[in-house]
Amino acid sequence: MDQANILIIGGGVIGCAIANTVSKRWQDVFLVEQFPKLGMATSTRNSGVNHSGIYYPKNSLKARLCVEGNRLTYEFCKKHNVPFRHCGKLVVAVDAHEETELVALKKRGEENGVEGLRLIGADEIRAREPHINGYAALDVPSTGIVSAEELVHAYARVATNQGANVVTRAQLISLQPSAESIRVGLRIGDEKDAQDETIEARCVINAAGLYADDVAAMLGNHSWKIYPVRGEYCEVRGPRSSLINNLVYPLPHSDGLSLGVHFTKTLWGTFLLGPTATYVEGKDNYEKNRLPIEDFARSAKTLLPEIIESDLQLGYSGLRPKLVPPGGHGIADFVITRDPNVPQAIHLVGMESPGLTAAPSIAEHVVGLAAEVLA
Ligand SMILES: Cc1cc2nc3c(=O)[nH]c(=O)nc-3n(C[C@H](O)[C@H](O)[C@H](O)COP(=O)(O)OP(=O)(O)OC[C@H]3O[C@@H](n4cnc5c(N)ncnc54)[C@H](O)[C@@H]3O)c2cc1C
Repeated sequence: MDQANILIIGGGVIGCAIANTVSKRWQDVFLVEQFPKLGMATSTRNSGVNHSGIYYPKNSLKARLCVEGNRLTYEFCKKHNVPFRHCGKLVVAVDAHEETELVALKKRGEENGVEGLRLIGADEIRAREPHINGYAALDVPSTGIVSAEELVHAYARVATNQGANVVTRAQLISLQPSAESIRVGLRIGDEKDAQDETIEARCVINAAGLYADDVAAMLGNHSWKIYPVRGEYCEVRGPRSSLINNLVYPLPHSDGLSLGVHFTKTLWGTFLLGPTATYVEGKDNYEKNRLPIEDFARSAKTLLPEIIESDLQLGYSGLRPKLVPPGGHGIADFVITRDPNVPQAIHLVGMESPGLTAAPSIAEHVVGLAAEVLA
């Protein structure tokens, strides 16, 4: 049986960023991912935005780890040649009433330590985004976009170079804790020739995304339930993609469900419209009952009156691992904690947006918890 100091469950951006950070300090680090490739779940089904941290309640983990993660993500991308564009974004108000909400958003961002926030008027909006209909906007210069897929792979590549063992097609099937360690049962390989193996790990890190509640339940911890909330996108390609230059957002949903359907100019020159937010049944339900294109076109017209239905094509969708149930209200914070009954286990639950941005600072935070376990 293999022995590990640390075994990470889940090869999304958070698991891979953790593998990068912990393998700088410890040997015998394993990361296991059930799919054939890393980052195939939520980590590559998102907007790819390196968020600033303006939205989240003061002193929350989301606020702190996002502001720090924004800086660390740019640094990592530069150092490891991950494509990104540090382009800034506009949060646009369409009338005087919404402008007062922008002022509140600016204040919250400043309390969270976001630098360079500025309110601008209609003329400056037109100069930066000539097709956008806006009364006022919040200019957020630290926001940008990154190649989420290349970011995931770069974290994993650096981890592997530091000695970590990254194993794909490796599904966690059981966890058996003992006093000092946890026996991790894995099913490795393709369905028809899969083999079961066991690794004994001194510390297990649950970064299983949508399935983090199920993984915690394998240790008898039923504290959390994850509700998948689907975010769908449309894409505008070709000459009409010049309707948008960078990143344009409406004000966020007042119910905390999402940041609102926004416009994201991609690194490949198209622009995305989305994501929507709908609670769905099933943690792999990406396509059932997709919203029709007309609905996207209608909602986009408020900020971008020139858009027409024939500009849009249905794009991909992703699932947010929400801790707030349907009908609930507010923003739940990230949960990053040692298990109270099995302290060799660290759970990361409810790792929704801004998880892509915050991944490197989440990883630094997890190093502190892992050091307690391995002391
Ligand atoms: C529509 C949408 C838009 C978003 N936009 C942004 C954005 O612009 N900026 C931003 O910062 N964040 C954004 N996010 C959030 C961000 O994508 C997530 O926070 C982040 O990807 C979470 O990473 P993860 O590693 O926790 O999860 P995942 O990517 O889901 O990775 C978890 C992995 O665990 C694996 N796994 C699960 N169970 C097992 C098992 N039993 N055995 C082995 N492996 C297992 C899964 O296969 C999966 O690959 C968005 C999310 C959505 C849905």
